[in-house]
Amino acid sequence: MPRIRVLSDRVANQIAAGEVIERPAAVVKELVENSLDAGATRIEVEFRHGGRSHLRVEDNGCGMSKDDALLSLERHATSKITETADLDALGTFGFRGEALPSIASIAKFELQTRPAGQATGTEVLVNGGKLVHVRECGVAPGTRITVAHLFGAVPARRKFLKSDATESAHIIQTVRLYALACPQTAFTLIEDGRVLFQSPVCATLEERVAEIFGRQFAADLLPVDASEAGLQLGGLIGKPGVSRASRHEMIAFVNRRPVDSRTLNYALIESYATSLPKGRYPVAVLFLGMNPAAVDVNVHPAKREVRFRSEGEVRGFVIRTVLQRLRQSGAPAAAPETMNSESGRRHAPIPPPGIAQPFPWRASQPPSSVAPAPAVQPPRPEVAGRLAAPVAPPIANRDSESDNPTGAPPSAFSVPHGAATPRLPGWRFLGTAHGDFALFESPAGVVVLDRRAAHERVWFERLQAQFARGEIASQRLLFAVPVELDPVGSALLLDRLDFLRRHGLDVAEFGRNFFRIEAIPAWLEPEAADVFLRDVLALARDGRLDERTPRLAEEELARLAAQKAVRLPEATSEADALALAGRLFACAQPHTSPAGRPTHFELSRGELAKRFQR
Ligand code: ADP
Ligand code: MG
Repeated sequence: MPRIRVLSDRVANQIAAGEVIERPAAVVKELVENSLDAGATRIEVEFRHGGRSHLRVEDNGCGMSKDDALLSLERHATSKITETADLDALGTFGFRGEALPSIASIAKFELQTRPAGQATGTEVLVNGGKLVHVRECGVAPGTRITVAHLFGAVPARRKFLKSDATESAHIIQTVRLYALACPQTAFTLIEDGRVLFQSPVCATLEERVAEIFGRQFAADLLPVDASEAGLQLGGLIGKPGVSRASRHEMIAFVNRRPVDSRTLNYALIESYATSLPKGRYPVAVLFLGMNPAAVDVNVHPAKREVRFRSEGEVRGFVIRTVLQRLRQSGAPAAAPETMNSESGRRHAPIPPPGIAQPFPWRASQPPSSVAPAPAVQPPRPEVAGRLAAPVAPPIANRDSESDNPTGAPPSAFSVPHGAATPRLPGWRFLGTAHGDFALFESPAGVVVLDRRAAHERVWFERLQAQFARGEIASQRLLFAVPVELDPVGSALLLDRLDFLRRHGLDVAEFGRNFFRIEAIPAWLEPEAADVFLRDVLALARDGRLDERTPRLAEEELARLAAQKAVRLPEATSEADALALAGRLFACAQPHTSPAGRPTHFELSRGELAKRFQR
């Protein structure tokens, strides 16, 4: 018979730590929440090596007496609730009384604390759950907690941690969320001795947003403030047309607690459905206030998920509020800032330095037989002014399907690499349907082709081939484009400057969180350089541009670029449509777009005969 034993506190704490403390950022979350619960008006967070080797959170809050300091390290010791009924009226971040003992069980944990009224403070040192000493110490009123060698006692957990840069990005994001939730508390964040941000007490959320994300970001937002039947919604939302490639800047709080809520995210996305292009996400910092009894924050100790008692009401309220605010702002819907505009023009690229013949296929290729050479027009004057050197007219050899029909100069990339456009014998173009779809008769039946998906596939493989050959066509900008990033974006970018430079995007740092885009890929509009860089960083934030797997990173970059580069002409000629189909079927993987959507389907003659019961 196995003997049943009660686990020691130390083991129980280590097990609980596995739930609550997934990564260094979770320690920061717990400690910062405690500082806020203690009424701090100043919080300083410092960390080294992504928080593994050293983490410190210091506040000027209420502090603890010696007895409380010791008690705070006991399991389920909390000053915040006494009965489960209190959960319904919760006004604090913490309530489980699990965080401190959990952290102390898996690290070297030092607590120094002093209530304002007492002459001396208390220092408690715990190592891997074992009490080392308790003694008096000199410390300013408030609490300082230092955590070293996190997961030192749990090597299995240590292995799951990502690179320092990734862990550090999580910590920065965590501190940023609480700084947004509490503008009246001053925050300082220090990484490896460098101040990442320092925000004084702010009078308004707008000020805090500008402090953390930069003035550019703040200028793109509109304030919202509404209430309805026990619900309140306040904060800032993106002006119509302001969008991002990822959801990272849709930030939501419920009763000041940062949350991940599908309900809120979907409500927001839906509100912007008509004013943002497909695949783009809105920007928002939203605070939902409601009766604590109507929301369940108890879903998981470490996760930020919440559940609303009445999802439908919350959803409806958010959509109504946001839609009304967008309407009031007077801006027309659909003002996309992305590159997908049909009227996008091209500029001829300037060969990058050091590559004698950047477009080797040009000189040797006979003009394509499918499209007549258009007159090359100079770029728009304001655009030409941004280019550093006179522009050599590109070879008048183009595939018009990937150019716009307005006669703008074709891009260097518009000539397919390799032989002339492959032909599809026996194919006949029948016309387009609903603009996006091209219809063909093929020897085997009828083919419906999604023009955008097809273009993206062709571009994707073309860019990949160019990356593989190192033939990156880049244009140097006469006037570098200044960009202000948040600390996470800056850190991600600094790690990838070389990679991006090798792929045609040359960015230089010229101050903390300030950068200058000096050269961009040839196919990109200088006006869209800023948005493209942010999209690239969104990929990096999702862990999809990892320098350790350069092939995959390159593929992700090509995928994004293909989406950005394609400008779909409204109309297409027979020659263009056949050329597009020809190039698609010459691709290595013609059946799907780089994003995995189908590019075409075929109705076979047999199928047609069957449908008509022939
Ligand atoms: P919880 O926050 O769920 O109560 P914790 O383990 O995080 O549990 O903290 C235990 C207790 O220690 C808190 O209830 C609080 O009384 C005290 N405490 C923790 N951190 C601080 C701090 N920074 N300042 C003052 N008291 C603190
Ligand atoms: Mg706590």
